[in-house]
Amino acid sequence: MVTMQPELPPAALRLKRDANALTANWRALDRLSGSARAGAAVKADAYGVGVDFAAPVLREAGCEDFFVAHWAEVSALLSHVPADRVSVLHGPLSALDVRFALATGVKPVINSLYQAALWRDAGGGACDVMVDTGINRLGLALADLADPLVQGLDVDLLHSHLASADEDSPLNQLQCQRWNDARGLLPHRRASLANSAGIALGANYHGDLTRPGLALYGGVPCPALAGTIAQVVTPQAALMQVRELQAGETVGYNATFTAPVPMRVGVVCLGYADGYLRCWSGKGHFRHNGLPLPVLGRVSMDMTIIDLSTAHQLREGDWVDADYALVDAAAETGLSQYELLTLLGRRFPR
Ligand SMILES: *Cc1c(COP(=O)(O)O)cnc(C)c1O
Repeated sequence: MVTMQPELPPAALRLKRDANALTANWRALDRLSGSARAGAAVKADAYGVGVDFAAPVLREAGCEDFFVAHWAEVSALLSHVPADRVSVLHGPLSALDVRFALATGVKPVINSLYQAALWRDAGGGACDVMVDTGINRLGLALADLADPLVQGLDVDLLHSHLASADEDSPLNQLQCQRWNDARGLLPHRRASLANSAGIALGANYHGDLTRPGLALYGGVPCPALAGTIAQVVTPQAALMQVRELQAGETVGYNATFTAPVPMRVGVVCLGYADGYLRCWSGKGHFRHNGLPLPVLGRVSMDMTIIDLSTAHQLREGDWVDADYALVDAAAETGLSQYELLTLLGRRFPR
């Protein structure tokens, strides 16, 4: 049976995304990268911001190099970016991954001798190399760089990745030194070390290309970047019901909030299934025209109840903003700024 799908009405929750802030953040990070260029980490759907939104804005701002983690993240990016400027950080795990890299023209990041062999056996071509200088996560050891398998690669970017860039740690200088050693050991066209926080560590950390992610999307990983980075993302949700409580009535699951006086409250269309986690219960805030609207009681899966005592004009169908400035939100919830961004769920239209 052939049926016409009726047009879907707009969702009652959305992500407000500020393209000007994203542009300004990339340009600031590019400027702070000195003689190096800034690229952009757009893995995990651009940290939850949406790659179809972020990639064209970043391209327009001047960004040319893009980083994803998974092969599955490549195709959405290729609608916006030339394949030879896309690096897949996880590299190939099988001959199927290598075949996909060759068919699309994106660069694998080679992280191990195993991956180097997979790439060579398929005929290779331009690739990136990740050398591990102390995080002990993905990457070739310095000692592996002399291996003929590695020396035979056609290396565009020689990467390393900092473990503690957001802290004043002696590990930073040690990793920088080892990355410089690696640059002398393996021929390459360009070198890259710094993530967002690494950019603030200074010129020794910049090489030819930096790889910011978090700070593009409004995260502030270190005090040196405060004042430079603008908020990009604000979750917004519609009021589905407004109700009047009597003094002594309770709100939400497990009745954790009791109205001390008669109160006007609203039920908003945002819950923990959308990434607005239960850690906001009784302590988050929404806002309307600057007026704070505190969260009352438990956050539910699909809704949250807020205090409308100061906002008598609000009605069903009106929209409110969640307070989601990442530095403050991380301090209030104990979640990292990275988690707060990448949590935002699939029910937000992107
Ligand atoms: C995610 C990632 C980045 C970006 O890091 P931020 O801290 O978000 O700036 C850079 N490089 C690598 C290898 C990554 O995995």
